[in-house]
Amino acid sequence: MGTSVSEPLSVSGTNLTRRFKKGDFALDVPFIEAPAGRTLALLGPSGSGKTTLLQLLGLLDRPDAGEVRLGGERVTPADRAAVLSMAAVFQRPYLFKGSVRANVEYGLSIRGVPRARRGAAISSALARVGLAGYEDRSALQLSGGEAQRVSLARALVVEPQVLLVDEPLASLDPLLKRKLTHDFATILRAEGVTVIYVTHDQDEALVVADSVAIMNRGRIVVHGPTEEIAGLAEDEWTASFLGVEPAAKGIVTASSGGLFQVSIGDASIAVVGEAPVDTAVLISVRPEDVILVESGAGLPPLSARNLLEATILELELYGATVRVTLQVGHERLAASVSRAASADLGLQTGMQVRAMFKASAVRWRRA
Ligand code: ADP
Ligand code: MG
Repeated sequence: MGTSVSEPLSVSGTNLTRRFKKGDFALDVPFIEAPAGRTLALLGPSGSGKTTLLQLLGLLDRPDAGEVRLGGERVTPADRAAVLSMAAVFQRPYLFKGSVRANVEYGLSIRGVPRARRGAAISSALARVGLAGYEDRSALQLSGGEAQRVSLARALVVEPQVLLVDEPLASLDPLLKRKLTHDFATILRAEGVTVIYVTHDQDEALVVADSVAIMNRGRIVVHGPTEEIAGLAEDEWTASFLGVEPAAKGIVTASSGGLFQVSIGDASIAVVGEAPVDTAVLISVRPEDVILVESGAGLPPLSARNLLEATILELELYGATVRVTLQVGHERLAASVSRAASADLGLQTGMQVRAMFKASAVRWRRA
């Protein structure tokens, strides 16, 4: 656990708008909340307004209209105590020449923490980010990953109530990025601090965040718990951004023992979960969870397995895999199969196949 003595605070924004003198970008956010002690990801393509919203919520910029609340109290960039209760980590670590200690100490000196107390705070922060004993290293000779850890330590050392994080891993190579994403997620959970985490990368958002707000053109298009957002998109834009097909709407027709049936057109789909009969739900299956077999293939029926007749609409090559868009009744479904599997089955557009996926692979939420 972190050594934070103060309780984390929620951050929320209501009716926030922001326009700039140049350009036609307009941020318009009726409501957004980062719950206390949790990580909210602002996820969206470049230019969607993530940094603009982060800066408003983080009191680094003023909205044209609307308000920001910290722990329920209205705050502005003029509230010094509120500003000092937040700390930020950016894409570039902005480390200055000198020791790691001097870099991490910076926020403590700004906040007037007595020198005698700084050493222990610095060692603790470095240990929490996995850099115990790095105090005397030269900040400009660190690797990219170490530099971002120092940047995180520099923010954590002031024991902020809110941590603002803007694409901290975006300039790292993919392998290091994946490792550091998991490490950052673990560190942030252990700290128990309220985090607003900006990223354009959905995999990163899904790993670090408890809730996600997806942004497009200055607006929030979806906002909810990560497990509900993951792979479940109501509209075409969000679906294509997440690389899934839009979710299908259905009605629960039967429910027992942690498994329920959803009727969608002529099809009935088994889903793992608890939902009462007659509930309207949205369901979706990630392409990598769908297996294609030959139409008419003899497979024993299992209640926990879905087997649907489908027509191939489109085949697209994605590196080593083939993404297959399928028509199932009036709905679309996508499957991701290896090139070898695609060749084996002789997949081509217009062909009939059967799509198979486990009841546990179906993502769902109430419509
Ligand atoms: P993101 O972080 O999602 O990439 P930003 O919030 O940085 O997006 O920017 C959203 C839009 O606002 C972009 O089109 C950007 O060019 C514009 N923008 C951001 N800051 C300013 C500014 N200070 N002046 C003019 N335009 C800006
Ligand atoms: Mg940005």
